[in-house]
Amino acid sequence: MPRTYLLVAVSLLSFAMTAVGAETRPGGSGVSIHAADQPIEQTIVRDGRAVLPLVVGSVEAPAELLREHIRLMSGVQMRRIEARHARRGVFVGLVKDFPHADIDDAASLGDEGFVIRTDARGVYLLAHKPLGVQHAVVTLLQRLGCRWFFPGPVWRVMPKHETIAGAWNERQVPDFKMQRRIWAGYGLYKPNRDDWEVWERFNRMGGPVDISIHHSWYGLNPDRDFQQHPEWFALVDGKRQPTKPCYSHPEVTHRAIEYALKRAAEGAKMIPMSAPDGLGYCECRKCLSVLKGGEPFEQHFATYGRRPDGKLVNVTSETLFAMVNRVAEAVSDEYPDVRLGCYAYSAYSHPPSFRLHPNVYVQITTHYRRTSLTLQQQLDAFSLATDSLGVREYYSVYQWDWDRPDPQQVRPDRLRQTLRFFERNAVEAINAEASNNWGPRGLGYYIAANLMWDVDADVPGLIRDFYEKAFGPAAEPMQQYYARWYGPVTRVLGEEAATPTDDVADYEPPKLDRDTLCACFANLDEAVRLTADRPDCRATVDHLRMYLHYLVLRRRLEDAAGTNDLEAVLEAIREETMFGGRLNRTNMIHTRPLIGKAFARRFHKYADALARLPADNPEAKQWRGLDDPPRPDVLQRLWNADKAYLDLPSAARPQPKEEDSEVVNHLETACTMGLRARRIQSIYDFSTGSEAHRTHTSSTKERNPCRKQEQPMRRRGETS
Ligand SMILES: [Zn+2]
Repeated sequence: MPRTYLLVAVSLLSFAMTAVGAETRPGGSGVSIHAADQPIEQTIVRDGRAVLPLVVGSVEAPAELLREHIRLMSGVQMRRIEARHARRGVFVGLVKDFPHADIDDAASLGDEGFVIRTDARGVYLLAHKPLGVQHAVVTLLQRLGCRWFFPGPVWRVMPKHETIAGAWNERQVPDFKMQRRIWAGYGLYKPNRDDWEVWERFNRMGGPVDISIHHSWYGLNPDRDFQQHPEWFALVDGKRQPTKPCYSHPEVTHRAIEYALKRAAEGAKMIPMSAPDGLGYCECRKCLSVLKGGEPFEQHFATYGRRPDGKLVNVTSETLFAMVNRVAEAVSDEYPDVRLGCYAYSAYSHPPSFRLHPNVYVQITTHYRRTSLTLQQQLDAFSLATDSLGVREYYSVYQWDWDRPDPQQVRPDRLRQTLRFFERNAVEAINAEASNNWGPRGLGYYIAANLMWDVDADVPGLIRDFYEKAFGPAAEPMQQYYARWYGPVTRVLGEEAATPTDDVADYEPPKLDRDTLCACFANLDEAVRLTADRPDCRATVDHLRMYLHYLVLRRRLEDAAGTNDLEAVLEAIREETMFGGRLNRTNMIHTRPLIGKAFARRFHKYADALARLPADNPEAKQWRGLDDPPRPDVLQRLWNADKAYLDLPSAARPQPKEEDSEVVNHLETACTMGLRARRIQSIYDFSTGSEAHRTHTSSTKERNPCRKQEQPMRRRGETS
């Protein structure tokens, strides 16, 4: 790739900021430029030589992160000097480390806010707390063109610059200040988790509060304790059952306090108080007494009643949140900073009739709401009842969407609308369940991460930047590909660009039929043609081609099912499962549930065919393992076969030649990814910042490292 010259001067600054989706927003979290206080341009690297030294304050890791990325971009190793000797430099640390920077009201930056600015002495990346310093460094890297669109090295963009210079003056704090989180249901294998951690760090996800809110028995053992003390458990249909605790029983509260104190003593910052999952809540006389004589009735599978004063209350909300309050009181005496976390979910979606202890954090779920209140009414009521409020979202659930290319929940227009709505309703944390399916939903997750930081981020600018940086010369056909699924909001390039609006488009993506698949093949074929000289962009296109091949395999399964040929069905299931195992390292689909816990559910329609395979058949086990993604030549053969299957003309395409080392190397995303990911992980691991330089080596000569790399996952052919 040619080395380019970068000068982010004041005149270019507005362009640079638009490209990463920030905008001027007085008083908000966006970037603000003070006209009266025009920043001075500073040069960090000029023509491949270091100009400013690195001056590190009391926070080490983000400074090393900056130094490592300046080196990756320019080849220049910044010199470090002691703060007391520093006349000029790139100052990285806490506001208090560099009093001469004269930053106003540092405390208002909170846990994660930061300042990036330049003056006559240099560049400042400063914050009130260490997490803010990290975000400052990441934001500067974004300004310099670095991107981490999806997890994994293929989707990382690291431009080359001989000169790194700019003039900055910005101050940002996130809109959701407790936590911003997208996570994968069914969990992740270790290498995928490493990819995600890097993605989170470089997209400013996370936050100062480690939210822990899962379903809990509070130390009760429903098997053992139920035998001895059935009265501690729920009375359902006139019978005690170990489905839930009875929240009115004093011993249950006592146990919950003991459990919470123990967790707090172990260092937990938030203790989970949500009820065990599923229905079966207590209807004992004591629990029903919260109705104060009102008649109980069932609504939305939850028990409600109207008190004599006319107030509608929910029995589970009243009893569960009363217990949570008592636990919070007991814990706060000894541990004033420890919070208690509880969902507002299922039978306890309805707000309680009383205020919650200041240390109780409530997270409202946007599904399974067993209340007649609208989400707005529910948020209004809970924001009166509690001091800290979060939302639990559902961006993708494997058994709801099966990784289909239908991103309704994460369409950028919908994300913008819902996240703005939450931010304006005092929500401080967003926790979104998702899948490791960056093929169909990655663009949505990337936009969501940016909107979680700043709900007024420039969405069309972010999408344009995504097309241009992830796909380079193939931006146009990739826009066509994405707009098919995500709708008009993702048409942002050239004359096709939709007029920006705050509305949510009325858009239904097309059915995944032959015509749609053919149109997708045409877009990606065009993208392949346009990226012939850009191996980095070809690699991202190839990831999506692998995803498309996976969709063709699903179509083949449906076609086979139509023939009633059970052998053919079995063969198609085998093909889909095995290729799913090969896609794991790409993060394009959520391989873990497909080959693991959700396998039977995914293929339950084909139980007849699967019955022909005995469960202990070693071959069947072998299907459900992990393997490397296809090499470029193999992918091209699969692609041509798919086109034949779809009756599309297959253009003869020259195969990459082995001696064309740069092209082959980039195209071998599959094979080299493991090693690259591991190396990058060590660069990005704060705890090993000092060895970051040592572990980074040129990747241009790597050949077939797959055999050597460690694989903590089960490989195909091994038994679990
Ligand atoms: Zn009860």
